[in-house]
Amino acid sequence: MGEKFAPCILNCPAYVDIRGYIDLIKQKDFSSALKLIMKNLPLPGTVARICPHPCEMNCTRRFKDGAVNISQLRIFLSSIEKNFIPQIKNDSGKKIGIIGGGPAGICSAYFLRQMGHQIFIYDAMPKMGGMLRYGIPEYRLPKKILDKEIDFLSQMQINLINNFKIDREKFLQIQHDFDAVIIAVGAWHSMKINCDGNQFFIDGIKFLQNIALNKENIVCGKKIAVVGGGNTAMDVCRSAIRLKAASVTNIYRRTKNEMPAQTCEIIEAQEEGVIFKELLSPVKIIGNGKNKTLIMQKYELGEKDSDGRFSFVSKNEFEQEDFDLIISAVSQKTEADFFSGKLNSDSTIKINNCFQTDNEKVFAIGDAIHTGKDRIAVVAISDAKKVSLAVNNFLMGLSVENLYAEPKKIICPSAKQKFESTRLEMKKVSVSERKNNFKEIILPWSEKEFLKEAMRCLNCGKHKK
Ligand SMILES: Cc1cc2nc3c(=O)[nH]c(=O)nc-3n(C[C@H](O)[C@H](O)[C@H](O)COP(=O)(O)OP(=O)(O)OC[C@H]3O[C@@H](n4cnc5c(N)ncnc54)[C@H](O)[C@@H]3O)c2cc1C
Ligand code: SF4
Repeated sequence: MGEKFAPCILNCPAYVDIRGYIDLIKQKDFSSALKLIMKNLPLPGTVARICPHPCEMNCTRRFKDGAVNISQLRIFLSSIEKNFIPQIKNDSGKKIGIIGGGPAGICSAYFLRQMGHQIFIYDAMPKMGGMLRYGIPEYRLPKKILDKEIDFLSQMQINLINNFKIDREKFLQIQHDFDAVIIAVGAWHSMKINCDGNQFFIDGIKFLQNIALNKENIVCGKKIAVVGGGNTAMDVCRSAIRLKAASVTNIYRRTKNEMPAQTCEIIEAQEEGVIFKELLSPVKIIGNGKNKTLIMQKYELGEKDSDGRFSFVSKNEFEQEDFDLIISAVSQKTEADFFSGKLNSDSTIKINNCFQTDNEKVFAIGDAIHTGKDRIAVVAISDAKKVSLAVNNFLMGLSVENLYAEPKKIICPSAKQKFESTRLEMKKVSVSERKNNFKEIILPWSEKEFLKEAMRCLNCGKHKK
């Protein structure tokens, strides 16, 4: 039978011991608290800033006076404590090649290096971090936080090879040179919207990458349309506002309620002046020199599907509007042309239940194997922890089967502590101040607020009956 976990832990894809670290915070043992988090989550402050925090959705207090603000506790903790560098076992004599230096790649390096293996990470971009650096904008995740948290890479003597894109030839060489290989290339290829004139779309992922690389501002003073309803679309809209676009209109084929983007992102985008146009989908773009006319078909909501989402039904009605630039931010696809093994029909890499591809020494993790709502950083990091067990066993000649016992029972939440204490929300920079720049929008708590919020945790399941 799997281990028993408190409700918050049970909902965390990385099974971080949330109850345990909040208990250590209450005892003011901050360094042990951070060490406990980093057993499963080597990027504590980074992930706390961007995670949709499913842990909070399952917190016992959620149904009383608001979930414990688990993410903000971790943001504060990681700001006052130095990250923990784990001990490295004696050299195992084995070498692992990792393709991709996003959260999946760098965290699997963190876990496997501790086991004494030599690690080499290859990445196509100038710096490590993947979409955390080249996708998610600075106002949500300052790069100095990411840089501080990935410092373990150099401190643990992990070999970093940047500006190195793996192609078929290099992949064959890597397979030859290493005892095991992990593919963690994410999903960097933007899907095309199927409509006439789609050559006029600007690619949303490239747009965000160019901002991270400090390239030319192409939206200043212009009227912008952004098509899509996920995190990428919200990041593009809010970045365009900060780059002083004349106006930013988001176009989505369902309604705001059905958007896959995090709710706080949608609310903040609206506060910052993004115009939302719902139930519209592009059917044609006509390029008229500098201007583009976007012709959109109208939709209405239909029946609810099995996931509780409304279907959408096209109407024989159209609307059109002129824009200077139309940015497409719908979804991304995995691009691993170098890999000749089996892929799934959605182009993710096919793996077995221990992350092995059809070549037993080649493993795959992160966005390269997931789709939809599983394409989040904490899932990529959870994969990294799990694959490290499988790769290590493979290298030691042990079985890679049945390594992950999923927890089966929730500890019955304690209902004894019934004190009222409302959740302390994140403090944010005012709209007028934040929409003109890329500075982080979360404001720090005081230590008093931090400890007060920690005290709200009911330590579920730890009380005597
Ligand atoms: C705009 C945007 C906003 C997001 N917002 C959030 C959010 O708020 N919260 C959240 O949890 N998640 C968010 N995500 C998703 C999150 O970033 C990903 O789930 C996560 O980064 C996946 O990690 P990964 O390591 O699998 O892939 P990635 O982070 O994509 O890293 C893959 C790495 O592989 C490298 N690579 C690719 N091909 C090659 C090759 N052939 N050779 C060498 N290197 C290669 C790339 O350069 C990259 O560094 C967002 C994603 C985007 C695009
Ligand atoms: S009250 Fe504490 S232990 Fe219980 S679910 Fe919430 S964070 Fe976890």
